[in-house]
Amino acid sequence: MSDEVLRLSGLTKTYNAGKPNEVKVLQGAELTVHAGEVVALVAPSGAGKSTLLHIAGLLDTPDTGEVQINGADMTHASDRRRTATRRAEVGFIYQFHHLLPEFSALENIVVPQLAEGHSFATAAARARKLLDQVGVAERADHRPAALSGGEQQRVAFCRALANAPRLLLADEPTGNLDPATSERVFSALMELVRGTGLAAVIATHNLELAGRMDRVVRLDHGKVV
Ligand code: ADP
Repeated sequence: MSDEVLRLSGLTKTYNAGKPNEVKVLQGAELTVHAGEVVALVAPSGAGKSTLLHIAGLLDTPDTGEVQINGADMTHASDRRRTATRRAEVGFIYQFHHLLPEFSALENIVVPQLAEGHSFATAAARARKLLDQVGVAERADHRPAALSGGEQQRVAFCRALANAPRLLLADEPTGNLDPATSERVFSALMELVRGTGLAAVIATHNLELAGRMDRVVRLDHGKVV
């Protein structure tokens, strides 16, 4: 199907294979996500959510199995091709914002666009538009330390979407926030995602938030169910 953005097939991943502390994290995990679809990935801590997201986002490789992004096999692609695909097609959001402390909110969203070859003016205009969409426009010139936790995380969403990826991968994006802030920040994220039609996989412990996504999948004994 042409609108298939992510396909994970038969993924296996074992840490410390053959040793006493061997951990079989993924054991044949399968997941397909289409454009415009937001999938909640729910599982207890240690079940392998981060491992799955890192493999899907080409930050890690499976022991066996395949990762396709936009219909192209990435498992056997060169490092150069994987890096180019990750930069252009994948946006990451973590539990902690990981913004660059010495740059303003705006600059944090500009930097990844400069790396993709955009001019500063074009990148800044896009950054302002994204900040406006998540309601943080008036904080554009503040450094992360001068922003609240919810604002920092909203800036991190904008940075993840700076280069208009087709795939968004989020690892507990509201896990660090109090319930009220978490709710506001999650709503901002959903609006941003809905406005672009990108495919998203969002790992969360929060079943209420999971229920507001299009589909909920769980990781159980290394398989997606
Ligand atoms: P989750 O994101 O669901 O909390 P993770 O993917 O982070 O789960 O981890 C799954 C399991 O794999 C855990 O038991 C964790 O301790 C183990 N693990 C993760 N990364 C490594 C690693 N680099 N080396 C050894 N074990 C790891």
